[in-house]
Amino acid sequence: MVTNPFDTINEPLEQRLITGLYKLGVALRSQAWQGAESQGLTPTQGQILAILQSRSHDGIRLSEVAQELAVSSATASDAVSALVKKGLVSREKATDDRRAIALRLTDEGESQAAQAATWPDFLLTAVDELSAEEQVIFFRGLTKIILKLQQQNQIPVARMCLTCEYFRADVYHDRARPHHCQLVNAPFGELDFRLDCPEHLS
Ligand code: SF4
Repeated sequence: MVTNPFDTINEPLEQRLITGLYKLGVALRSQAWQGAESQGLTPTQGQILAILQSRSHDGIRLSEVAQELAVSSATASDAVSALVKKGLVSREKATDDRRAIALRLTDEGESQAAQAATWPDFLLTAVDELSAEEQVIFFRGLTKIILKLQQQNQIPVARMCLTCEYFRADVYHDRARPHHCQLVNAPFGELDFRLDCPEHLS
């Protein structure tokens, strides 16, 4: 017997949203493999370059890389060693703790990182298909999902406003910009929320 394709009891909207997110995940992974292959990297190595590029020039620890990628220390260590061999990453003494090692991009690593950071850009034309109103709703939904997953420890903590020590919620009566960022001492609204702010303080 043919099942009714519009039977939302069998496939509720939540389930179809998850299917849609899964398909986006597949597309991102596939694009990452293609981008990585063209640069002679693995997707993990490319992600590490992009992480190092988005961090301060003080460099970051191996443990932070592993945490951000949600992989084991051994996996992160192997990928970093490969990047060091390729001359894209250097291991240096951390400026804030001489006993610790900080990872930094070399000049060649900077250029490869800039390229790796563009791997997800294929989504831009698709996102541009959404109206301004649809983009707002989509962004709001994504922010909520990311926050919930963080609270459940299912994804690494993103450097987003909602988890930042500088964030003050609902300080102003202005409905468009009710929140306050203490770092820059300025009001902002939910459409200004950052999902990967370099100044995030946790
Ligand atoms: S803009 Fe950056 S520093 Fe300010 S509240 Fe958001 S995450 Fe924190």
